[in-house]
Amino acid sequence: MSVEELNKLKELLADPKKIVITTHRGPDGDAMGSSLGLYNYLIQKGHQVQVITPNDYPSFLHWMKGNNHVIQFTKEPEAAERITLEAEIIFCLDFNTLSRIDTFAPVVEQAKAFKVLIDHHQQPDEFDFTLSDTSACSTAQLIYEFLDMFGDVEAINQDIAECLYAGIMTDTGNFRFSSVTAKTHEIVAFLISKGAQQDKVYDLVHDNNSVNRLKLLGYCLNEKLEVLSEYGTAIISLTSDELKRFQYQKGDTEGVVNYALSIEGISVAAFFVEREGVVKISFRSKGDFSVNQLARDHFNGGGHINAAGGAYGTKVEEAIEKFKSILPDNQSLLLINKNN
Ligand code: 5GP
Ligand code: MN
Repeated sequence: MSVEELNKLKELLADPKKIVITTHRGPDGDAMGSSLGLYNYLIQKGHQVQVITPNDYPSFLHWMKGNNHVIQFTKEPEAAERITLEAEIIFCLDFNTLSRIDTFAPVVEQAKAFKVLIDHHQQPDEFDFTLSDTSACSTAQLIYEFLDMFGDVEAINQDIAECLYAGIMTDTGNFRFSSVTAKTHEIVAFLISKGAQQDKVYDLVHDNNSVNRLKLLGYCLNEKLEVLSEYGTAIISLTSDELKRFQYQKGDTEGVVNYALSIEGISVAAFFVEREGVVKISFRSKGDFSVNQLARDHFNGGGHINAAGGAYGTKVEEAIEKFKSILPDNQSLLLINKNN
């Protein structure tokens, strides 16, 4: 981001504008926390703001202030298109390339608005204003830094603070990943000083499980975990029939992949799930092995070095077979595990 870009955006935001905020398909805590954190800030400044998600997101994120005003492109395509084409500024949060917003992408592409990217994923596209920091733990942290660039962090109230807190908390696995820095904790301390209640936010996000969700997790661990010790890799998979059996709700499988990664000696984990006609894959790693690269090279995906995702085919068996077939080519995997 150049000084010119920043000045241009400052100029634009100096008086009320029509603004759209969007985020990646299958929004997670950081996607919604950064979008609604920014939304609550911008409406406070008198702008006319609409958050548009490509599709729906888990109910444990519905508590955030402003959630009632979010619209989903897949549910209300005409309204979403009209508002987007009328927007003067479009904020794209927590994704690096328009393909991450699926069928909403052509609309955003077509829009004449000034387009802003605030994101922490690898290999970002260029926007009219690009604030990309791949070392940042979350986009929510970058929203704080963005407000700081405007000299306006004092405008953060409890609602904004709790949205940003939720984004940082969820994208850092509750503040435990290596992406968390002293600065992250300083920002979080500031958010708490502005009224964010950490116990409440944790409870709303994490202690809100349905019985079915826990039973599905138990089933994954008991019946569906496969350990490939030679490659320091563990896999969990679910078919669409299995999802039905446990009355799957959006978000129910979030975090399952981390159990596979928590096994002693395992440094790469993959979770495969048949959803909406495709096999969606979540990859996680520890150390130097880049699952971002793996996802980009073989699964039409991407993400971060230690957390990435992609998609492959329509049946989990095919996707798992593909994954297993490339493991022997990844010498670095064997290398990592020899060193462990
Ligand atoms: P998750 O496994 O939790 O869905 O995603 C892990 C990370 O990878 C997130 O940062 C997410 O944005 C990114 N990611 C997940 N799926 C995809 C995908 O299909 N394409 C790309 N480029 N990134 C993905
Ligand atoms: Mn994120």
